[in-house]
Amino acid sequence: FDELDTVEQTLGGTWDDVRGLLGGKGANLAEMTRLDIPVPPGFTVTTQACLRYLDGDNTVDQAPAPGSMPAEIWDQVLEALRATEHKLGKVFGDPTTPLLVSCRSGAKFSMPGMMDTVLNIGLNDDTAKGLIDRSGDEHFVYDSYRRLIQMFGTVVLGLRDELFENVLSAARTTRGVASDAELTAADLRGVVARFREIAPQFPTDPYEQLRMAIEAVFRSWNGRRAIDYRTAAGIAHDLGTAVNVQAMVFGNLGEQSATGVAMTRSGATGAPGLEGDFLLNAQGEDVVSGTRATLPIQSLGKVMPRLYAELQEMAGRLEARYHDMQDIEFTIEDGTLWMLQTRDGKRTATAAVRIAVDLANEGLITRATAVRRVSPAQIDFFLHPQLSAVARATAIEEGRLVATGLNVSPGAAVGAVVFDPDTAQRLAADGRKIILVRPETKPDDVHGMLAAQGILTTRGGRTSHAALVARQFGKPAVVGVSALEVDLVGHRALVGDLEIAEGDWVSLDGGTGQVFLGQLDTFVPDISDSWLSTLLSWADDYRRLGVRANADYPVDAQRARANGAEGIGLCRTEHMFFATDRLPLMQKMIMSGSTTERREALDELQPLQRSDFLGLFRAMDGLPVIIRLVDPPLHEFLPTFEELSHRITDAKIRLSAAASLDEIDGLLTRLRHDEDLLGRVEALRESNPMLGLRGVRLALRYPEILQMQVRAIFEAACDALEAGGDPHPEVMVPLTTDAGELAAARTVIDAEAAAVFAERGVSMPYQVGTMVETPRAALTAPKLAAHADFFSVGSNDLTQTTYGLSRDDAETSFLVDYLRTGVYDHDPFTSIDPEGVGALIDLAIDAADLHEGFEVGVCGEHGGDPTSIGWCHEHGLTYVSCSPLRVPVARLAAAQAAL
Ligand code: PEP
Ligand code: MG
Repeated sequence: FDELDTVEQTLGGTWDDVRGLLGGKGANLAEMTRLDIPVPPGFTVTTQACLRYLDGDNTVDQAPAPGSMPAEIWDQVLEALRATEHKLGKVFGDPTTPLLVSCRSGAKFSMPGMMDTVLNIGLNDDTAKGLIDRSGDEHFVYDSYRRLIQMFGTVVLGLRDELFENVLSAARTTRGVASDAELTAADLRGVVARFREIAPQFPTDPYEQLRMAIEAVFRSWNGRRAIDYRTAAGIAHDLGTAVNVQAMVFGNLGEQSATGVAMTRSGATGAPGLEGDFLLNAQGEDVVSGTRATLPIQSLGKVMPRLYAELQEMAGRLEARYHDMQDIEFTIEDGTLWMLQTRDGKRTATAAVRIAVDLANEGLITRATAVRRVSPAQIDFFLHPQLSAVARATAIEEGRLVATGLNVSPGAAVGAVVFDPDTAQRLAADGRKIILVRPETKPDDVHGMLAAQGILTTRGGRTSHAALVARQFGKPAVVGVSALEVDLVGHRALVGDLEIAEGDWVSLDGGTGQVFLGQLDTFVPDISDSWLSTLLSWADDYRRLGVRANADYPVDAQRARANGAEGIGLCRTEHMFFATDRLPLMQKMIMSGSTTERREALDELQPLQRSDFLGLFRAMDGLPVIIRLVDPPLHEFLPTFEELSHRITDAKIRLSAAASLDEIDGLLTRLRHDEDLLGRVEALRESNPMLGLRGVRLALRYPEILQMQVRAIFEAACDALEAGGDPHPEVMVPLTTDAGELAAARTVIDAEAAAVFAERGVSMPYQVGTMVETPRAALTAPKLAAHADFFSVGSNDLTQTTYGLSRDDAETSFLVDYLRTGVYDHDPFTSIDPEGVGALIDLAIDAADLHEGFEVGVCGEHGGDPTSIGWCHEHGLTYVSCSPLRVPVARLAAAQAAL
């Protein structure tokens, strides 16, 4: 660990390269050693050695045979071991001054609990005796010895942990005590003897122990749970793990000894100050496994004030060195504090945002770094549901708050209780919402945890496996709910007399630790006035790309603006017609036999649209509001052919059995209406509606619809202006494929606008633009630009028409297989396809560049996708437009693209 300078010089690379070679843990142990932080001496076997050993095998089945460690690696291990012995004046395997070591995995990226560790290596009957002579503490030595055999047995020899746990629990019962710590030295000697019988292959040669342990850690890189974790976390599979061999220090040497884990700031909220747990007279795994009730780290300040102050001081130094919140492990051996590990701490989205902002305000990082630190996915968390206050209060009043545990990963989760991870995975794949309930979680449960809405455990603390994994993946979680007893065999949980069966609904609040029976209402949090708004305001300082919202109703527009949207990039006006009070009017319009009749129906719709538009202009006062003319084919506003046929058959059957004239009358009217509708549906029926009478084609075919919409837009704009507002109306023509279409539509739009302005005696600047949604529109963009003031890329349709695959069907059909088998490397409906769709968008941008002030935005779903936002930034688009809830994500992603 004290050769970091040499490693850096030899490698000649960055800190990232150092971590790649030594693993995160090894690099940090070396760095702490360089910072003069007390670290037990030891050495790191590199990831390169691991890869050499695994020799490129990346599957569990093809793992190399034990005992095949290359000789030169082992020789270097021995050399480094000599140096460690020298530092401590102890000798590995020597009964008089025995050195014991730990052997821990440490990959480049932290994978908590996914790989293996063996402690107390070097103990056998002889060294145990020597250690007893030196320490005079037989209890401690046999406790360490039994831990070695147990860990070696499970990790290296692959024996089941229960075999060992059963022996321990029998010993506790015989002695009549509750914890292992209360067993006597003689009891533990008996336990060791039994363990040796259970694990007869346990090597008594310390060197054999060390070699086998290192190889086992190497192999654990390719264990199933490690592979699953990497796949879920997006970590490459070819990095390998380093192995850290380090002199043991003991937290179980009596009441002046302790061991603990802590975050330098709260991993849940980001609040400053140490947060963690410790145990007196214990070894590390006792703290993380949750088997003994831990004490909060603050109480260390009462028991060992000097050491607590030292710990706080070291925490500060580590944060200053790493410029981030740290997750530390320490051990106090007989009054001396040792740091065993430091790494960047896992945190919730809430904590990530607060820590980034606080660190910038404290001068530890720049604002730009703070903006880079938080991922768009973490921002997305704020947009996830939380329990509604009313639902919570009602549930409490009704006695449905059944238990409370530790609030380790915020957010509300509502789902049906499931007790095993495989079932959880299966049900979730069927689209069911589930909550995974376990006594505690282990790495083998990760697939079920990922599939669950939320996680509930009865044991474990803030740093337990369940808490860490939940936080990393943004899953709401409540752990350590001690009032809850899980009966895995009976598939039920008990809280006192209350039984919760598999399939019962529960609601969790990972922010308060509360567990409720039943399905509680949730809401999406308000993000204003918080650390998040500070971070986003910093993001705004860096981004070049504008962020607008796709908003159809005034309330959406208000929410979008509160989230930071700089205008409306797309109002899909047809959505306004789908409202229940408007649909009949729309249907009346579609059913009209003549233009006059149609105009009458449109006259009724017009004031409704006008008032919606006025709401949009008000909400976005001073900002652009792009209103798109009606786009989908008209049959979408009518019932389907099947539905109508069914209704007609049903009416006919009822007619044949009708009892009164009134009833017959009513049924006949209904029947005639449905038959008329059916006729119209048939007339409007198209083989390929997506390529049919929609978009600008519809507007040109029924210019009266176009006129009505344009009139509503400009009358609303005049209303807004007269009320002292500053409306910026922009009219957008959908699905244009030809300059002639656009020219024709524009003539109607300009004429109608002029008519409204003349009637109202006012005038204002406005723009008319078109969507670019087909390859032809992109290819002829220079011609379209001659008739347009702006372009907006409808990337949903442009992807559909460029690939020639249906946006409504592909993602539930062959595309799923394409993505699974790697035929496509990404879903083009999620992220812009740079080669095809992107090339077409570039044509539109080139055409726009020839005109001063000509803006080009993207308003399909891609506008809210961080990867696509990066692409849009690089390709010089003016803005992206996305749903109001995605606006904060887009602001951050746009800033990160620019940084
Ligand atoms: C698009 O096609 O990308 C678009 C924004 O329009 P819509 O989704 O309404 O077809
Ligand atoms: Mg479209």
